Amino acid sequence: MKTQNFISNFVILGGGIAGLTTAIALKKAGIESTIIEAAPEFKPVGAGIVLAVNALKAYQHLGIYTKIRAAGNPVRHLAIYNDKGKLLSKIQPGVNGLDYENLAIHRASLHQVLLAQLDKTFIINNKKTSQIKTTSEGYKVLFEDGSFISSRYLIVAEGIHSVIRRQFFPQATLRYSGYTCWRGVADIPELNLTGASETWGKNGRFGLVPLGNGKVYWFAVKNSTHDNRKYQQFGTRELFEIFNEYHHPIGSVILATDEDLIIWNDICDLNPLIHYAFGDLVLIGDAAHATTPNMGQGACQAIEDAVVLANCLQENSIVREAFLSFEKKRLKRTHFIVNQSWKMGKMAQLDNKTLIGIRNIVLRLMPESLINSRLKHVCNVTFKKLID
Ligand SMILES: Cc1cc2nc3c(=O)[nH]c(=O)nc-3n(C[C@H](O)[C@H](O)[C@H](O)COP(=O)(O)OP(=O)(O)OC[C@H]3O[C@@H](n4cnc5c(N)ncnc54)[C@H](O)[C@@H]3O)c2cc1C
Repeated sequence: MKTQNFISNFVILGGGIAGLTTAIALKKAGIESTIIEAAPEFKPVGAGIVLAVNALKAYQHLGIYTKIRAAGNPVRHLAIYNDKGKLLSKIQPGVNGLDYENLAIHRASLHQVLLAQLDKTFIINNKKTSQIKTTSEGYKVLFEDGSFISSRYLIVAEGIHSVIRRQFFPQATLRYSGYTCWRGVADIPELNLTGASETWGKNGRFGLVPLGNGKVYWFAVKNSTHDNRKYQQFGTRELFEIFNEYHHPIGSVILATDEDLIIWNDICDLNPLIHYAFGDLVLIGDAAHATTPNMGQGACQAIEDAVVLANCLQENSIVREAFLSFEKKRLKRTHFIVNQSWKMGKMAQLDNKTLIGIRNIVLRLMPESLINSRLKHVCNVTFKKLID
C-alpha cells in the first residue's frame, strides 16, 4: 500500500458526463471536489450524442450553455421513416412550445468544454477504484494499483458497470434489451442534413444525426442474442449488407465511415434501484439509473442529476440529508425515463412484418399534439420544477 492521501471532502468517482458536470455544478455552489477517473487520459474518442432541451437548460443554469452550443450543431427536427423512406412521424423541438432546439455534439467536444471549466489539479486520472471501506472519518477508496485515498463524502459516477454500486447494492441487475448497437461518425460533406432521423425496418433501426462540418453521427441497432461476439468484428461492409436496402443516404453514410472508429456494444439498462443514497455516498448518472438510449435521455438525466445534487447540498448543511433529498427528487423521474425508454425500444425493434405494419399506421396517425405533450413532459422542465 502506498501512503494515504486525503484530498477534497467530496470525491467524485468517474469523469464521464455525470462526474464532470457534477464537479462544475459543485464548483458553482462553492463546493470543492476532486474527480478520480480510471482512464489514463481523456482522449478525443467516442461518437456523437444528442442533448435534449432539459440538459441544455441545466447547462444554461450552470452558465455554460453558450460554450456547449458553440461546440455542437442544433437539431431542428427528429423524423422517423420506414425503410423505404416514408415519413412516419416528425417532431420539432424548437417549435411547438419547446423553447430550445436539441443539440448534437461529438462526445469528445462535450468533454473538452466540460474539462475546460475545471481546475486540472482536481482531476486524477489512471486510478481505477476496486473497493470502498467505511472508516470513522468517511471512506477509504482502494484502487487497483494498490494505492488509496480517503474522503469524507463520495459521489459515484462510474457509469453502468460501476464497481462501487455492485459493492453497495449487490442485488442490482443489468437487463439486456435484446438488441445490439454500432455507432460511428461519417465524413460526408456533400450531405446536407438539417435534422436527425431514425429509420425503422425489419433489419433494425438506423439513426442519422448531423454534427456539422460535414460530419454525421450514426447508429445502427439490430436484434441479437446477448454478447454475440461476431458483431464485434463488423465493419462497414457487414453493416452495409444489413442496411443496403434502406433508403438514401444510409448506405453512403456507412461507407463514408472510418471503420476503425466504429463502436459496438450491447444495449442494457439498470433495473430501477430503490435507493441512490447510502449514508455519505450517493450514486448519480448511469451508475444510478442507466437507461436504454431510445429516448436519448441517459446523459441528459445525468446532467439534471448534477444540478439537483448541487442544489440539495446548498440547501442542506448535513450531507447525508442532502443525498437523501437528492434521491427523493430523482427516483420518480429517472425511473419513468428508464421504463418508458425500455418500452419504446421494444416498439422500435419489432421485426415481425405484420406488427411493423400496424405500428407504422399507428405512428402515422398519432396527432402531433400528443407527441409534443409527451416530449414536453420529459424536456420542458424548469430548474425550479427539478428541485421542487
Ligand atoms: C448507443 C448509445 C447512445 C446514446 N445516446 C445518447 C443520447 O443521444 N443522449 C443522451 O442523453 N444519452 C445517450 N446515451 C446515454 C449516455 O451515453 C449515458 O447516459 C452517459 O454517458 C452516462 O454518463 P455517466 O458519466 O453517468 O457514465 P459514463 O459515461 O459511463 O462515465 C463513467 C466514467 O467513469 C469511469 N469509471 C468507470 N469505472 C471506474 C472505476 N472503477 N474507477 C474510476 N473510474 C471509473 C469511466 O472511465 C467513465 O469515464 C447513449 C448511450 C448509448 C449506449
